[in-house]
Amino acid sequence: MEKTVKIAIVGAGLGGAAAATLLQQAGFEVEVFEQAPEFSRLGAGIHVGPNVMKIFRRMGLEKALDDMGSHPDFWFSRDGETGDYLSRIPLGEFAKKEYGASYITVHRGDMHALQIDSIKPGTVHFGKRLQNLVDRGDDVLLEFADGTSVTADIVIGADGIHSKIRETLLGVEDPIYSGWVAHRALIRGENLARFADEFEDCVKWWTDDRHMMVYYTTGKRDEYYFVTGVPHPAWDFQGAYVDSSQEEMLAAFEGYHSTVQNLIKSTESITKWPLRNRNPLPLWSRGRLVMLGDACHPMKPHMAQGACMAIEDAAMLTRCLQETGLSDFRTAFDLYELNRKERATRVQSVSNANTFLRTQEDPAWVYGYDLYGQDLKSS
Ligand code: FAD
Repeated sequence: MEKTVKIAIVGAGLGGAAAATLLQQAGFEVEVFEQAPEFSRLGAGIHVGPNVMKIFRRMGLEKALDDMGSHPDFWFSRDGETGDYLSRIPLGEFAKKEYGASYITVHRGDMHALQIDSIKPGTVHFGKRLQNLVDRGDDVLLEFADGTSVTADIVIGADGIHSKIRETLLGVEDPIYSGWVAHRALIRGENLARFADEFEDCVKWWTDDRHMMVYYTTGKRDEYYFVTGVPHPAWDFQGAYVDSSQEEMLAAFEGYHSTVQNLIKSTESITKWPLRNRNPLPLWSRGRLVMLGDACHPMKPHMAQGACMAIEDAAMLTRCLQETGLSDFRTAFDLYELNRKERATRVQSVSNANTFLRTQEDPAWVYGYDLYGQDLKSS
């Protein structure tokens, strides 16, 4: 007979891990099924806005993240060629005072490891690739590629842009390739020392059709990171990402400011990732299945809010299940969608348009949001 679990979360990424911790802290029985055999310190950085630091406060992880991350005083936007400042968005102490928590940039792997450690021991199961899923009315059957299976009362699909839960609910459909790729590189602090440039804490360099976002991933400033958006007609490579090179990037950023050129010259390895998205989905749940994060609203990463939205989803879903109890999960799922869809869809569309903070604007609608301070809309 299959093992029975109350709440099965598929995917232990940033959204699934947040859901596990929050639900367990709220007293729910949760088990997580992750396809990866283990997690490594993936070479990428991430911004975490005050909107999500307030959720990490609930989880008891805010201080550890504050200690780990870099705290930029500003998000600067600069003209890629002339270096002129297009915007100076105040963060740092301003963010703490105005938005209620800090704005940090951090290594994604370090943050993820902290999140995984906050889940109850023995409840994350690695090497479990969900292959088949059947909502049988009274429960859900989950079958994994290793031949094992479990049944669950409800299933949370936190399994990313290629979600099996989305596929079960809405059919097979590849995500849309956006026509842009992202180059990513982590740069050792000492590699920057040979240049006289001022390497700012958080800066986005822009020209009409491409950009480079740059920031530190540690409080010690010993690791710097960039991620780009560069047009590329088709993703004609195999795999999630491919290697890039200094030559390719110097060609892509020809004419850019010398600080950008020097950054590229400081790299030891560069990878290139396709940027994919989906149009807003017609539903986020059906029966005993519900989705969060990239499974239901993937976006181009240009607001640095994709994972933040996944974590907000996790917090709202937990709130709704607390409100109704697990037995009335259908009401909880409806409440969850009602209280999340508008915001997540707005962020998805601004992110895809890649306009956020390019000019001086007020980001309070994103960063000032306090999920726990919102009244729950019920219709
Ligand atoms: P994922 O992180 O994709 O996690 C899904 C998990 O499910 C994975 O662990 C996967 O192995 C697992 N899984 C998948 N299928 C199965 C299966 N069948 N069975 C079991 N497990 C499965 N967001 C920010 O907030 N800030 C940023 O600065 C930022 N920068 C970004 C830069 C780039 C270049 C990109 C591409 C994205 C960026 N994002 C950023 C977006 C962010 O990475 C995603 O929105 C976020 O990872 C979504 O989290 P998730 O938990 O929904 O999905």
